Amino acid sequence: MPDCLFCRIVAREIPAQYVCEDEDFVAFRDISPKAPTHVLIVPRKHIPKLSQASEEDVTLLGRMQRLAARIAAEAGLESWRLVLNNGRGAGQSVFHLHYHLLGGRPLLWPPG
Ligand code: 5GP
Ligand code: ZN
Repeated sequence: MPDCLFCRIVAREIPAQYVCEDEDFVAFRDISPKAPTHVLIVPRKHIPKLSQASEEDVTLLGRMQRLAARIAAEAGLESWRLVLNNGRGAGQSVFHLHYHLLGGRPLLWPPG
């Protein structure tokens, strides 16, 4: 296993506030929330960033979005945002692909 923070959270070696999990994904609350709901959706598979995902990951990525919609619905959110930072210049700080699900406050556009 690569020395990766999210791999360690997925493996439950580091605690987190887990929201849900299945055979392919783990979702947990961001340690530094930027909105009342700020959930990270993380595939168990270690893919460093979206630009390194391959054709074989297409189904996984689609299912990740469906899971985000389900978590948003379960949180009672009608409007929400799904963010994926790809690369340091875009704000990526953990190099294990993940979505941020943000909601519970008005979300401005464009993001900073
Ligand atoms: P990125 O900046 O890579 O798009 O997102 C990484 C996110 O992981 C950040 O929003 C950051 O607050 C969150 N994060 C960093 N370390 C931890 C941690 O140990 N636990 C949890 N739950 N979130 C973390
Ligand atoms: Zn990882």
